[in-house]
Amino acid sequence: MATNHGVGSSNLSGRAINVITHLPLAMLVAYSVRIPRTYSGIMRFLSIFVLLALVVMVPNPALAWSQNGHEIVCDLAFRQLTPAARNLLFKVHDKKGPFYKSCHWADEVRYDNFKGTYNYHFLNVADGEDELDFARDCAALDCVTIAIQRYATILAREPQSSRDEENRGDALRFLAHFVADLHQPLHVSHRKDRGGNDITVTWLDTSNKRNLHGIWDTTILSESGARSVALAMPLLTRIQNMDVSMWRTFDIVGWTAETYQLAEMVAYTHENGTRVITGDNLPLPYFERARPIVEQQIMKASVRLAYLINQIAAGNLPRNMLVLNSPGNIDGRIRVE
Ligand SMILES: [Zn+2]
Repeated sequence: MATNHGVGSSNLSGRAINVITHLPLAMLVAYSVRIPRTYSGIMRFLSIFVLLALVVMVPNPALAWSQNGHEIVCDLAFRQLTPAARNLLFKVHDKKGPFYKSCHWADEVRYDNFKGTYNYHFLNVADGEDELDFARDCAALDCVTIAIQRYATILAREPQSSRDEENRGDALRFLAHFVADLHQPLHVSHRKDRGGNDITVTWLDTSNKRNLHGIWDTTILSESGARSVALAMPLLTRIQNMDVSMWRTFDIVGWTAETYQLAEMVAYTHENGTRVITGDNLPLPYFERARPIVEQQIMKASVRLAYLINQIAAGNLPRNMLVLNSPGNIDGRIRVE
């Protein structure tokens, strides 16, 4: 899942690790190509430098945990689609490669082509408030909950032009991404600490400093063993063994409230009930409580994403899900253009 509310420090450390892990490989490549001895000293130095830079720039998939969470949700969801939903997906999904490969795209475009979607990745509870109030905290109608309804509705519309077809491709990718984001507890959390990005802790008694948000985006999932789509496959069997009928709802406001409860009870809270603050260490018992939550949220997101696409393909999407389920005074103002 994506780093929320801005780029966290984990990206910097990831780049640093990238350099370190690739360095021996780069040196081997530089040595093996045998730079001609006729090159002057400076030319030899520059050639080796360019080779090192090229190798370091190769993406290291083992470090792309944020991307990993999104890909796992999409892959598991794809395996739960009805034949009609798969047909819809194949028609609309216009990018090369498997569907799950497109599920991180929304994080890549939120800084440029789709700047207007930046706030769609999360929902913040207002400063000074402990309770989630959907009408207050999503008053600008630009939170993740609204985004799910918006893109589900666009996907459900019969296209009238090639532009509509293109929009449906984008809507599918946004929908898939935001359903996953909504299930990361710290994507429905507090503005005052930017969803845990401003809480710096150490992890499992090491001295490595990390931000709490990054731990929930990447660390817990990767340390649970689900380091790739292939390694996450056992989660599919576990979904089938669970009673998922309770998860299959159109109550996106209810999904949001559930996630916030997990943020409050688990992500922001130590085993002894005290609040996680900057400078704390998160020991093994924290991981042991968090791991089943992360796994369940990944499974739940995949079930709900598949449910939405299945219902859209069957023509069963309610006209306005949020109006059906939203509490408070926001109901009358929701419009999906
Ligand atoms: Zn995101």
